[in-house]
Amino acid sequence: MDELHFRTEAIMRDWKLPWTGGCRCGLVRFSVTKPPLLTMACHCSGCQRMTASAYSLSVAIPADGFEVTTGEPVIGGLHGASRHYFCPHCMSWMFTRPEGIDWFVNLRATMLDEAGWYTPFMETWTSEALPWAKTPARYSYEKLPPMEAYEGLLKEFAES
Ligand SMILES: [Zn+2]
Ligand SMILES: [Zn+2]
Repeated sequence: MDELHFRTEAIMRDWKLPWTGGCRCGLVRFSVTKPPLLTMACHCSGCQRMTASAYSLSVAIPADGFEVTTGEPVIGGLHGASRHYFCPHCMSWMFTRPEGIDWFVNLRATMLDEAGWYTPFMETWTSEALPWAKTPARYSYEKLPPMEAYEGLLKEFAES
């Protein structure tokens, strides 16, 4: 193994996959088998309402590394182009399949059985944040990051 390859291996985080998780009542359960792409807190007023809290916490998972293993989540939220999935019984907001994007799923981080590792790497919509609501995110955006910023964000997250 050459030195560069060795160093790349050394900084790869051990994500301890697979992960499991589920809604509050346990009717809907899922598994995650691929490393996360990015972690995010969103302060937008829509997330404030859907979480009944200050912001949502997301972890972007490659779509082919995410599987619902028990139960049938239902569409909730705005019933719009972005599909927000909820447990049909306890109504926990579990994950989102964003509009026009099919290669990742935005999982709500606190659905994971083991969420203690989680911190948001970036935060969005700080322009709508409650004045006291702060996170330890490395990058903050008043709205969303510009499209061209994502490549660098994904790369830096993977190496963090
Ligand atoms: Zn439930
Ligand atoms: Zn939001």
